[in-house]
Amino acid sequence: MKIQENISLKPFTTFGIDKKAKFFTRASTLAELKSALNTAKEKESPVLILGGGSNILLTQDVEALVIKLEIKGIEVIKEDAEHIWVEAGAGEVWHDLVLHSIAQNWAGLENLSLIPGTVGASPMQNIGAYGVEIKDVFHNLQAMHRETFEIHSFDSEACQFGYRESVFKQTLKNQYVITSVTFRLSKTPTFRLDYGAIQEVLQANGVQHPTLREVSNAVIRIRQSKLPDPKEIGNAGSFFKNPTISSVHFEQLKAQYPTLPGYPSLEGVKVAAGWLIEQAGWKGKRIGEVGVHAKQALVLVNYGNGSGEEIKSLAQQIQASVLEKFGIQLHPEVNFI
Ligand SMILES: Cc1cc2nc3c(=O)[nH]c(=O)nc-3n(C[C@H](O)[C@H](O)[C@H](O)COP(=O)(O)OP(=O)(O)OC[C@H]3O[C@@H](n4cnc5c(N)ncnc54)[C@H](O)[C@@H]3O)c2cc1C
Repeated sequence: MKIQENISLKPFTTFGIDKKAKFFTRASTLAELKSALNTAKEKESPVLILGGGSNILLTQDVEALVIKLEIKGIEVIKEDAEHIWVEAGAGEVWHDLVLHSIAQNWAGLENLSLIPGTVGASPMQNIGAYGVEIKDVFHNLQAMHRETFEIHSFDSEACQFGYRESVFKQTLKNQYVITSVTFRLSKTPTFRLDYGAIQEVLQANGVQHPTLREVSNAVIRIRQSKLPDPKEIGNAGSFFKNPTISSVHFEQLKAQYPTLPGYPSLEGVKVAAGWLIEQAGWKGKRIGEVGVHAKQALVLVNYGNGSGEEIKSLAQQIQASVLEKFGIQLHPEVNFI
């Protein structure tokens, strides 16, 4: 296992921020992961687990051992007449797993096409898009305890999935490294086409009875038309979560802003953070090397040489103005380091 020192993390996060890792290594097997965690223990160094770096904002140099997880493999572990259980290594690229599933005619991941990042990070915030979250197809995961190196299994209940949340961001934060995830996929698709513009895109292509690939392609087309490609412009997708407010608060705002979009949820009404940010005047705004994307106000961008501190400061200004205008506190979806 090779440990590098003081290397730039710029190529390793989609924001493209130039901060350094004190120590850096890669783990492509459980043994390498254990050895890396052990090295950190010996050095009395904190650890930062890195997947694809697509949900991380570096605001300072990382005084830790950064372990980039590269454990690969996609394996069918069980099947019955209706379902197939597929285990994928934490270091698999998420979209590769989606494409592999579609090629095999396994249904369930198609709406989650083109989400950047790795399989191992997918349960961290219960990734979701177009009406589907991974909790809908999740079976269980394996994770290595960072101190004891024991492998523990977590089922859906133990993961405590919520909207962009799991136990690994809450009570078990920084305690486990997810090493593999098993999904229960379907042999017969049940499509979710009612979200976003999926139906529209399919109709425009003359598709009446879509295949998995056609739904995936529609999702890819919509995402590419709305979201900046991190290879061209640094970003981490949605910077903030969509906030939930009380029904009373929602009705008050709706009276003042009739076009405010809201979706009833168990705790109240979920409102679109992008709409709030746009109404507060931030869409397309640029401050030096950082800004708010012109097509999607929920996405903060690094035009090239922006710093994590500048993006953090922009995020704070947006939070303050949304709070002042609407009385709503926005919370970041992105992990600050
Ligand atoms: C253009 C764009 C679009 C996006 N669209 C969506 C979307 O539609 N829906 C959505 O939910 N997200 C979206 N995201 C966010 C991001 O893709 C997801 O959060 C993704 O799951 C992050 O994976 P990653 O491997 O890059 O994680 P990283 O950014 O590397 O890590 C994220 C967090 O998880 C931890 N972590 C990573 N791997 C492990 C592991 N194996 N074990 C323990 N901890 C780990 C890290 O320490 C960090 O705290 C988008 C991002 C971009 C750039």
